[in-house]
Amino acid sequence: MSQGRMRPDRAMDPVEAAAVALDEADPGWRELFDVPPVEAGPYPEVAYFAGNSLGLRPKATRVELLEDLDSWGRWGVEGHLDAKRPWLPYHASLTAAAARLVGALPSETVVMNSLTINLHLLMVSFYRPTAERFKIVIEDSAFPSDSYAVRSQVSFHGYSPDAAVVRLRPRTGEEVLRTEDVVAALGPDVALVLLGGVNYLTGELMDLPAITAAGQAAGAVVGWDLAHAAGNVPLALHDWDVDFAAWCSYKYLNSGPGALAGVFVHERHLSAGLPRFEGWWSTEEASRFEMAPESRPPASAEAWQVSNPPIFSMSPVRTSLEIFDQVGIAVLRERSLRLTAYLEKLLAEITPTRPLRVITPADPARRGAQLSLRIGGGLRAGELARTLRFEHGVIADAREPDVLRLAPVPLYSLYHDCWRAVRALAEAVPENA
Ligand SMILES: *Cc1c(COP(=O)(O)O)cnc(C)c1O
Repeated sequence: MSQGRMRPDRAMDPVEAAAVALDEADPGWRELFDVPPVEAGPYPEVAYFAGNSLGLRPKATRVELLEDLDSWGRWGVEGHLDAKRPWLPYHASLTAAAARLVGALPSETVVMNSLTINLHLLMVSFYRPTAERFKIVIEDSAFPSDSYAVRSQVSFHGYSPDAAVVRLRPRTGEEVLRTEDVVAALGPDVALVLLGGVNYLTGELMDLPAITAAGQAAGAVVGWDLAHAAGNVPLALHDWDVDFAAWCSYKYLNSGPGALAGVFVHERHLSAGLPRFEGWWSTEEASRFEMAPESRPPASAEAWQVSNPPIFSMSPVRTSLEIFDQVGIAVLRERSLRLTAYLEKLLAEITPTRPLRVITPADPARRGAQLSLRIGGGLRAGELARTLRFEHGVIADAREPDVLRLAPVPLYSLYHDCWRAVRALAEAVPENA
C-alpha cells in the first residue's frame, strides 16, 4: 500500500524504509480519505499535518452529500419525510454517534450551528453573573474567538471584561499550565470556567475531570471548549460531571470547512428551567407543527436548538461520525499515541542542534495528536511553513510569530509523513553555529 505513495525507482534511506515498514504494520484508515496531491517531487501526496485545523475529506462525504442534495430535487418539500435520509429527524441521526464520541448520553448531545455561536447560546444559560461572582476563567492562550466571546458576554451583562476575564498563564519559563495552578485560581468570585480541553496552541490536554471537580467545588459552572479534543482524545463528559461543552467538527472530525458543531449539556441541567434563547426547533418535535405561541422544550440538549438545521451541512458530519463509530475512539487513540511518539522520537534527533523546541507536554497522557514547536533563531513560523509546503510538500500550521504545529492524525497520517516532516525541518532549519 505504501509503495503506491512513492514514485518508483527511488532509493530509500534506512530510516525512511523503517517508516514504510511501520506503515505496513500499523496502517490506519487513510484509504477512506482524499489526500491532496503534490505536483512535483518524489511523493504523489502531501504529508498532511494540519488536520487539527481542517481535517481531510472522507471519500464517502461527496457521495452521501450528493445523495442528500438529490433528495431535494427528487422530493421537494416531501423530502422532510420521504427522502432517503428524511430531513425532519436528520439531526437526531447524528446524536447517538456524537454522544458516543464525547462520552455523553444522547439526550445530552446535539449537533447544531458553529462553535462560537454554541458557546454564546450556552453562556446564555450558564453564565449568570452576580456582583459577588462574575468572573470567567480562560487560558491566556485561549483561541481568540473564545476570548472575544467571553468578553462580549461579560459586557452584555454590564460588567467590565478587564475585571471579569481571568487569563491563566503558565509559570515563568514554562509553556503549559499546571493543573494545580488552574485549581488555585478558582476563587469564590468565579462564575464560569471555560477552558480548551486540548489547547489549540500548545496541544496540552487538560485534566478535565480534576478541573471540573475543582471548579464546581469552588461554586463555579465548568464548561469546556473541545474544538481540539473531540475526535482526538477519549472523553467522558457525562461521568466527569461536566456542566456543558461545545466543539467544532471541521478539525479532527473531518466534516469540512465551517462544519456544524456539537453541544453537550449535562443531564442534571436538562429540566432545570435554565434561561435559553429559543426558536421553533427548541420545542418538542411532536408539537412543532402545531404552531403554538409558546414552546414546549424537551428535557434534552435539543432544547438549545433554535432554527431548523441545514441538512447539506449535517450530511458531512453524519458521514464522518460513522467513521468514528466504525473505528472507535479507543482504537484511534492507541494509534495516535504510537504515531505521535514516533514523530516525537524523530524530532528529538534534530531539535537539540537547531533552534527548535517541542512545547507540547512530553507525557502522552497530557497531549493528543499534536506536537507544537517553538522556533528560534529569528526564523518566522509562517516563512518556515511555506518552505515546508512549497519545497517539501509538508503541510503544517504556523501560528505567528514562532509556533509551528504538527498534527499526526491517526485516521490518515503515516509514519512516512512523520519522516518527511522531520527530514524537511532538518533541511529548512539551519543547525546552530
Ligand atoms: C477552531 C476553534 C474555534 C473556531 O470557532 P468557530 O466558531 O468554529 O469559527 C473556536 N475556539 C477554539 C478553541 C478553536 O480551536
